[in-house]
Amino acid sequence: MEPITPAQDPTDALSSVPASGAGRGLAPTGRLRFFFGPMDCGKSTLALQIDHNQARQGRRGLLLVRHDRSGTPTISSRMGLARNALEVHEDMDLCALVRDRWAGGARVDYLIVDEAQFLSAAQVDQLAELADDAHLEVYCFGLATDFRSALFPGSQRLFELADELNAIQVEVLCWCGRPGRFNARVHDGDVVRAGDTVLVADTAPDTVEVRYQVLCRTHYRTGDLGPHTVSSGQLSLA
Ligand SMILES: [Zn+2]
Repeated sequence: MEPITPAQDPTDALSSVPASGAGRGLAPTGRLRFFFGPMDCGKSTLALQIDHNQARQGRRGLLLVRHDRSGTPTISSRMGLARNALEVHEDMDLCALVRDRWAGGARVDYLIVDEAQFLSAAQVDQLAELADDAHLEVYCFGLATDFRSALFPGSQRLFELADELNAIQVEVLCWCGRPGRFNARVHDGDVVRAGDTVLVADTAPDTVEVRYQVLCRTHYRTGDLGPHTVSSGQLSLA
């Protein structure tokens, strides 16, 4: 009987894999995740739940929000929960922000970013860098598309770069009962599909009513807002 050569030895079959193969080339990295859905689907509630779960494991996070409407930056859910957050400004470098925190002796293990659709593409790149190089877990929450049904620049970059894309499963319904995916801008009772993406409330003339309503694709296309006007309060269930 011929001796078994090393190449035939079944116990040596994985010899081409380095001894430390299990971990080699797989340095721990964080993950960049994007949770998206229409208005009122509970994104901020989920953001706060994830923050709570992480914090309970002794991890330290930084809560960020872009274009907070309240004036005092918070991530607040319609269920009544709220946490203070840091407002991300247009030119803020998020890598520098985290480095500054570390330099000040603070730990940062994860980031929660609400209203992430308003981030610049460069800021989303910075989040990917923080996940890869600083091993941060990054959780972004936001709308996918704007009132023109086009992707927000920040959301587009998140779709391009994120490790995980999660459509939030709480359905927001159009008035007809179908799932609503479109954030329609309603201007004096009409659906508008052109204009500035970000409408700052202060600049809108007081005499003109501008609001948003979630519609299914059919009714977004036809501009049919339903048999009776839905007040904004009725959208607050999620
Ligand atoms: Zn509909």
